[in-house]
Amino acid sequence: MEHQIQNYIGGDWHAAQSGAYLDNYQPATGKVYSRLPDSDARDVELAVEAARKALPHWSKCGAQERFQILMRVADLIERDIESFASAESADSGKARTLARTVDIPRAIANFRFFATAILHFSSEAHPMEGEAVNFTLRQPLGIVGCISPWNLPLYLFTWKIAPALATGNCVIAKPSELTPMTAYLLTKVCAEAGLPAGVLNILHGLGGKVGQAIVEHPEIKAISFTGGTATGRSIAQTAAPMFKKLSLELGGKNPVLIFADAPFEEMLNTTVRSSFANNGQICLCGSRIYIQRPIYEQFREAFVARVKALRVGDPEAPDTNQGALVSQQHLEKVAGYIRLAQEEGGKILCGGQRVEMPGELAGGYYLQPTVIEGLPIGCRTNQEEIFGPVVTIAPFDTEEEGLAFANGTNYGLAATVWTNDLMRAHRVAEQLHFGIVWINCWMLRDLRTPFGGVRQSGVGREGGLEALRFFTEPKNVCIRYW
Ligand code: NDP
Repeated sequence: MEHQIQNYIGGDWHAAQSGAYLDNYQPATGKVYSRLPDSDARDVELAVEAARKALPHWSKCGAQERFQILMRVADLIERDIESFASAESADSGKARTLARTVDIPRAIANFRFFATAILHFSSEAHPMEGEAVNFTLRQPLGIVGCISPWNLPLYLFTWKIAPALATGNCVIAKPSELTPMTAYLLTKVCAEAGLPAGVLNILHGLGGKVGQAIVEHPEIKAISFTGGTATGRSIAQTAAPMFKKLSLELGGKNPVLIFADAPFEEMLNTTVRSSFANNGQICLCGSRIYIQRPIYEQFREAFVARVKALRVGDPEAPDTNQGALVSQQHLEKVAGYIRLAQEEGGKILCGGQRVEMPGELAGGYYLQPTVIEGLPIGCRTNQEEIFGPVVTIAPFDTEEEGLAFANGTNYGLAATVWTNDLMRAHRVAEQLHFGIVWINCWMLRDLRTPFGGVRQSGVGREGGLEALRFFTEPKNVCIRYW
């Protein structure tokens, strides 16, 4: 394991200009296990200089060269998948099996998907019969910023970086200060894959310092950000007056709407997963579960029994379902919401307590998966994002009532619906105010589809053509026939 992470600027590894480092805690043990550079605006300036030098070649070298290099990056991550998975688990506290089967394979898929997508990317022509032809040139933006959170570290980081690079931009990227390790390992494989110096620059440090400096830099033309709604708002306040292109993937408070005719076993299995995968720290996790009254009791009993059986423990152990939460601060935030739920009149059906672990793991951030009932839709527990292993359950009677509950927050990222009634599935999907609706499934992802939220869950879409379009500037060229 590497113990001192460095910035990657101009194809080389550097300490921060400040010379200072931040401690990186291992959530499983609560102990410092590595250090990362405490970067600031001076490091951003150096990264922009490096990107400026790299841009003329990278933006003009053609899709074929970019495809080959990005495919090599994917192959090298795959070669090193075990060390990437271990690093992701150590850094974030997530179960190693999850990192090995979901996070790292998806990072590989992101590179392959956008490497090949760029070979197929085309633009429109608008002929004016007998007079002229218009065609749309889609050119790289130049230097772009990519900022990502801690919950799916390499998965979300590469989801931004891969399309930005594929379209010929140079990138200044910042992973979360809580989970910098796999972004650091990525720099090693990018260098080995032959990515030219300065094309990708990765800076580590605090969001409010180096992140803010990326957003403020006048030469950085676009910001692709995934993180909390409050941070997104502050980024928009800085970037919008500078007329930067912005893609904001923000928080959520996702509903799961279960009708009485749902396929019960399949629904139950998936709802345990959609509630507690990665300790509920996935922006797509359902945190408010509404069940139609005829099956409410049956669901409550079966669901609580299944949740009680989830194994919380050492992220390294192959049979662990739930590892540690990402940080002490986050653990306290989630525990605070469990207390709030009780103050608001909620009844804890299972969980609610910290899990004390023996030996080396005694200082880790472990929490029991928690199910709460008896709370009204308007209370803070049901309105605010908790982003941990906590769900509320409540009954509903009619389709209208279920829809009103599901739509009843300011967020709009993803909703899940369970029903065997095809007509209802169509009707409900149309009326849900969310960017993503899953019917009888959850987190079934096709990378070509538009990904993102509405209302306070964000602005813009990622994925497929949406991402290729975001990272390019369309220019209409009109040629008159003579
Ligand atoms: P934050 O908003 O705290 O941070 C996200 C990233 O932004 C981090 O790299 C952070 O750095 C950085 N940052 C913080 N402040 C600034 C700033 N002023 N300028 C620039 N960058 C800044 O989110 P979390 O890391 O806590 O992630 C959890 C959140 O992400 C949840 O709300 C979750 O819903 C959301 N999310 C949304 C997804 C979606 O697709 N819609 C997917 C996954 C998560 P640092 O870590 O150093 O503070």
